[in-house]
Amino acid sequence: MSARVLNGNEIRDQILDEVQQGVLELSARGVQVGLAAVLVGDNPASEIYVRNKIRACERVGIFSERITPGKDISTADLLAIIEELNYRKDIHGILVQLPLPTQIDESKVLLAVSPTKDVDGFHPVNVGALVTRQIGFAPCTPAGLIQILKRSNIRIAGKHAVILGRSNIVGKPAALLLLHENATVSICHSQTTDLAMMAREADILVVALGRPAMVTRDFIKPGAVVLDVGINRLQDAGEVKKIFSDDQKKLERFQEKGTVLVGDVHPSDVAEMASAYTPVPGGVGPLTIAMLLSNALEAARRSSEN
Ligand code: NDP
Repeated sequence: MSARVLNGNEIRDQILDEVQQGVLELSARGVQVGLAAVLVGDNPASEIYVRNKIRACERVGIFSERITPGKDISTADLLAIIEELNYRKDIHGILVQLPLPTQIDESKVLLAVSPTKDVDGFHPVNVGALVTRQIGFAPCTPAGLIQILKRSNIRIAGKHAVILGRSNIVGKPAALLLLHENATVSICHSQTTDLAMMAREADILVVALGRPAMVTRDFIKPGAVVLDVGINRLQDAGEVKKIFSDDQKKLERFQEKGTVLVGDVHPSDVAEMASAYTPVPGGVGPLTIAMLLSNALEAARRSSEN
C-alpha cells in the first residue's frame, strides 16, 4: 500500500480561509486585525520569509506593516521600536524576524515584545503558558504540526510520538503540544545514544534536526506517521544524486536551478515505510505562516474583548 501524502498546502488554505472569515467578522465589529513585521538588515532569506508573511496577510485581509531598521541598529534603538509597537492600538501582533544581526541582544528583544502581541510564541510568558496549558500563543511551526494531524484525522491520543530535535522553536514546543493531545512523548537530540532505535519506536515521528535526509528507512517503523520539519537547500551535486537517485524530475530541476530542497527525512525511504508523511516542500512549511496569521487573529480577538 502506498503512503498517504499529507498535503500542507491544502491544510494551509483551509486555515487561511477560516482566518479570513474571522478577520471579516472582527472587521464587522470595527476591529481591523493588524500585524507588524520587524525585519532588521538585508538577510535575503529573511526578506523572502517576511514578504511571504505580508502576502499571506493581504490574502486574508490582515493589515500589515513592514518595519525595516538598518543592519547596524543598536539593541536600545530596536527595543524602542518594539516598545512603540506594543502601545499601538492598530497592531495586534508583532513578529521579529530572526536571526538578528550579531550586535543585537536577541533575547532582550524577544523579551520586549508584549506577550499579548507575541504571535510567534517565543516570549517566556507564552512558553510558560504552553507548559502549563494556559491561554497564550504557541509557536507556529509546532502548532501547524498538530493541525496537520487533526485535519488529516490522525489519532494522537495514546500514540507514541518521538521528536528528533529539541530546539526552543520546534522540538520542545512540538513535544509539549503532542503531550497536551495525550500522546506519550520522547524527545531525542545529539546526545541520544541510538537515534534510529528510538525513532523506530514512534507511531508519530516528528523530525526537526536540520540534517538533510538523515532519517532513512532504518529510523521508520512500518506504518508510522512521519512529519518532516526540516528545510535544507542542497547545492552539492553528489549529495543531490545520492538522495534523489530514483527521482528523475528532481534531478532535472537541480540541473536547471543548481539547488534543490530536501527535508530531514529521506524522501523515497519515507514513502516506502510510512503510512502517511509530509513532503518537503509542501508539507509542514506552509502551515507556519497560516498559524502566524491565526495567532494574529486570536490576538486581535482577545484585545477586542478586553
Ligand atoms: P536547531 O538547529 O535549532 O535544532 C536542531 C536539533 O536537532 C537540536 O536539538 C540538535 O540536538 C538536534 N540534532 C542535530 N543534529 C543531530 C544529530 N546528528 N543527531 C541527533 N540530534 C541532532 O534547528 P531547528 O529546530 O530550528 O530547525 C530544524 C529544521 O527545521 C531545520 O531544517 C530548519 O530549517 C527547519 N525549520 C522549518 C520550519 C518550517 O516552517 N517548516 C520552521 C523552523 C525550522 P542538540 O540540541 O543536542 O544540539
